[in-house]
Amino acid sequence: MPEKLHANLQPMFDAVLARNPGESEFHQAVYEVMLSLTPIAGHRPEYAQWSILKRICEPERQIIFRVPWVTDAGEVQINRGFRVEFNSALGPYKGGLRFHPSVNLSIIKFLGFEQTFKNSLTGMPIGGGKGGSDFDPKGRSEGEIMRFCQSFMTELYRHIGEYTDVPAGDIGVGGRELGYLFGQYKRIVNRWEAGVLTGKGLSWGGSRVRTEATGYGTVFFARDMLAEVGESLDGKRVVVSGSGNVAIYAVEKIHQLGGTVIACSDSSGFVVDEHGLDLDLLKDVKEVRRERLSVYADERGPSARFVPAGSGGEGSSGSGDGGAGIWAVPCDVALPCATQNELPAAGAKALVKNGVRLVAEGANMPTTPDAVAILREAGVLYAPGKASNAGGVATSALEMQQNASRDSWGFEETEARLEEIMGAIHRTCVETADRYGHPGDYVVGANLAGYMKVADAMVAQGVI
Ligand code: GLU
Repeated sequence: MPEKLHANLQPMFDAVLARNPGESEFHQAVYEVMLSLTPIAGHRPEYAQWSILKRICEPERQIIFRVPWVTDAGEVQINRGFRVEFNSALGPYKGGLRFHPSVNLSIIKFLGFEQTFKNSLTGMPIGGGKGGSDFDPKGRSEGEIMRFCQSFMTELYRHIGEYTDVPAGDIGVGGRELGYLFGQYKRIVNRWEAGVLTGKGLSWGGSRVRTEATGYGTVFFARDMLAEVGESLDGKRVVVSGSGNVAIYAVEKIHQLGGTVIACSDSSGFVVDEHGLDLDLLKDVKEVRRERLSVYADERGPSARFVPAGSGGEGSSGSGDGGAGIWAVPCDVALPCATQNELPAAGAKALVKNGVRLVAEGANMPTTPDAVAILREAGVLYAPGKASNAGGVATSALEMQQNASRDSWGFEETEARLEEIMGAIHRTCVETADRYGHPGDYVVGANLAGYMKVADAMVAQGVI
């Protein structure tokens, strides 16, 4: 980790390291929050006490289970399922499910930890949790995906509920998977409980704008950051990493607000399209056909070129990017919307060298601590995901509200609420950073505001 923690906090961080050996992503998420507690570690010691930090860093409940299922060829497969119910001080546990081969306890714990403070920042009554499996949906048939989801829910159902724990999607879990998960839940409990999951389809209890919410929200947040310094997205060149749900709707909103997205990526590489990405083609390739990005480049014509992963990125054209990948594409605004630790120091250096103005995270913890330090040092406007990508879970909370009142709102009304929530999170970050002597520092603002609200509620509810 690039910086030492405050003397009051370092021993507590060392204890977290010793108690959770080998969980590097979880360590990183805890470190980032503890680093932001520095401004209050001296003069608001009630928030930096071990009694509260120790509890905040220990999930309330961690569930690990076997997920057996049978392939189309008749082979038995065993995956590992997780649900980490991290913190319920502010409401029922809330957070997505991730299906990806990299999933392990460290990753689910980091995501659940971050989710707790993100959900706090939204101002909605939701606690923090996260789950998923090391299942790899890539290359699996419809039948296999359905059987896996049904087996996963056959264990998960006993742990979730409208007032207990409300899962949603994340990487590898979209509308299709949520449909299979909801169907199996309903079948087991024999009740139509819309409030048990969010991200549902529109005809069966879902909310308008939930699909678009994380990407749209990230762009609203970036727009508000620029407005704070008298700038706008109009005419800006934007690079968005990823090409999943978050990235696609970030591209859509950037284009609506006058910017041009000139690059995006997937695990096979990235595409640069100097005319601006063709969103209809991108949606068709990624969402409908579930194809690689090279297919986009092939069908788009001469304005687009595909750079395969591991080819040295832009270096393949002779310049040598030293591992910067998509971040070597010159831009004004960069939105990492793929996955954790996808923007390393080399990427941050390339962005700074090319004069980037703003980085806002659409993914969870995509920027490594070294890269964050480089961006902040260079005076780049930088928003951590727990603030800038909170629009997804905030709209999940709006879905819960609609389910509870058996109501369904229109698109414009729901989008207006999302925009208002992102504006409020932005204000909270700015005001908190100002109050604690770090003007313009969104990391300090987001972490402090998110943390203090959870800590206050925990103190009020006693040692539980
Ligand atoms: N997985 C999303 C996140 O990281 C959304 C969670 C939800 O809607 O519950 O915030």
